[in-house]
Amino acid sequence: MKESYSLVFNIKRYDPETRKSWFQEYRIEAGRILRFTDVLRKINKELDPTLSWNSSCEHAQCGSCSVVINGRPMLACELLVENAVEYFGTTTFRIEPITVAPALRDLVVDLEKAYDRVHRIRPFVINPSRNPNQGQEYRISPRVMERYLEATRCINCFCCATACISSHKGFIGPNAVIASLVRIMDPREDATEERLKLLYSNEGVYRCHTSMACSNVCPKNIDVAHFIGMVKDGDF
Ligand code: SF4
Ligand code: SF4
Repeated sequence: MKESYSLVFNIKRYDPETRKSWFQEYRIEAGRILRFTDVLRKINKELDPTLSWNSSCEHAQCGSCSVVINGRPMLACELLVENAVEYFGTTTFRIEPITVAPALRDLVVDLEKAYDRVHRIRPFVINPSRNPNQGQEYRISPRVMERYLEATRCINCFCCATACISSHKGFIGPNAVIASLVRIMDPREDATEERLKLLYSNEGVYRCHTSMACSNVCPKNIDVAHFIGMVKDGDF
């Protein structure tokens, strides 16, 4: 087992002042269990303090470190060097920002713009429903509860939306659909009709052509395309 690897990172840079973008090569030695966020930090420390990238929790829960690595949207905080070398079969990595929002600088994208898609579906209870079991908890069937819990594992990392070709052509995007479906499945919500209007509109689920790219890249292993299929079928 190798203890460290000589890596080549080809990173897409973007300078907002000159609006120029280019690929910059960094050669760096990295221990086998460093995560890609650790390697980016090492580059900042040892090679280039100007390289900008994003992360927050670094425990695969906030979705802020999503980048495209050798064409695949991934969480940089979750990817160990040795796993990356094995998965891609190379020590050379091309790293680009996710594509659902414009870059602000280097690997940092305008997440507010990306979140506009999620905010479009109003990811909160719009019309609180009347609880038919007055004085008791809201009831939800075990079958719906299972789906609900699965869908609420989404961290809005936008990896699925980046992988989805339709997301770049007017579709609100797979994670926005999931966020809406979460509220549809929620017995406390009484705005299903309003939600379906958007989900069945020109920006909605029929933009999806079931390529499964979203399910394939989801770092939480959510079968995103299956949820979109549920909306298409009206099976909540
Ligand atoms: S299955 Fe649908 S939502 Fe998922 S990536 Fe393909 S087109 Fe996009
Ligand atoms: S469904 Fe998966 S890939 Fe898409 S935003 Fe949620 S966690 Fe990320």
